[in-house]
Amino acid sequence: MTAYCGRFAPSPTGPLHAGSLVAALASWLDARAHAGRWLVRIEDVDTPRCDPQAGEFILGQLARCGLLPDAAPVWQSQRSALYDAALQTLVTHGQAYACSCSRGDILRALHGLGQARLRHAELVYAGTCSNRPSGPDGKPARAVRVRTVDANGADVIIDWCDRRLGPQQQNLTRAVGDFVLKRADGLWSYQLAVVVDDAAQGISHVVRGEDLADNTPRQIHLQQLLGLPQPIYLHVPLVRGAGGEKLGKSNGAVAVDLTRPMAALTTAAAALGLDVAAPALGDWLTEATRQWRSSVSGLGACEAAAQGARIRALPPRTTP
Ligand code: GLU
Repeated sequence: MTAYCGRFAPSPTGPLHAGSLVAALASWLDARAHAGRWLVRIEDVDTPRCDPQAGEFILGQLARCGLLPDAAPVWQSQRSALYDAALQTLVTHGQAYACSCSRGDILRALHGLGQARLRHAELVYAGTCSNRPSGPDGKPARAVRVRTVDANGADVIIDWCDRRLGPQQQNLTRAVGDFVLKRADGLWSYQLAVVVDDAAQGISHVVRGEDLADNTPRQIHLQQLLGLPQPIYLHVPLVRGAGGEKLGKSNGAVAVDLTRPMAALTTAAAALGLDVAAPALGDWLTEATRQWRSSVSGLGACEAAAQGARIRALPPRTTP
């Protein structure tokens, strides 16, 4: 079996809040429970949304909680060459293409196909630029997209298995369509950067918030096209605000109060179904790891989840 390597990959749009601390703690506990390595990657590709101070601030918050990475953190803003190489591979193999569509063009094309856009639904790309042999005609290319049809022109169906949510399936072609790898403004998409980095860093296990579960098929598709290994996935419950909404900077989630790190960690652990009490931080982390290990015992591989097993300690799927 490959050596366990996990990671926490925050977007530095603000300090850690109650929800992101849960993802950080879960990924750290899973790595420690497997006697594995744990890395931190600052995902600062979406520069307009990032706060230049937040990356260092988050690293300080993690350190106060005793969550220390096993290697120096990497910053995605310094890794463009890796993303560019992956993009060129896909373009060379005809798997990615330049797209000149504006948002308005995409909406008009969908309308022309008789597909009304449902509220909050993904803006599925109708493939307008996908069959132009010499690239977009007339208008300048704005973005680069990856194809979501297989070699025979059939839909791409992604089957995968989450350690908590169990077997999952998505028709990527219909649910998402050809998605963006490099944006019209020249920024790298999260999907490409995360796939390239997880492979480059040798990540064997991805543990993150449940809101990213529906991104996983896009990432598996890219792994398959690029010939990269597929990590084992675990999506943990989200912490929701009083109105049931996902906590995030956009709805005013406040920085987690780390004047008493153990109190913050105890709240985060409770969201993971753990009940941890200890006199000091080191003991707290040891006890939390022991509880996490016993909750995942017997679940050595994702295949176990496919047969109906679940991580017992974790609460079921969060309802939005
Ligand atoms: N950077 C992403 C976020 O903070 C998480 C990426 C991941 O864990 O795959 O939402």
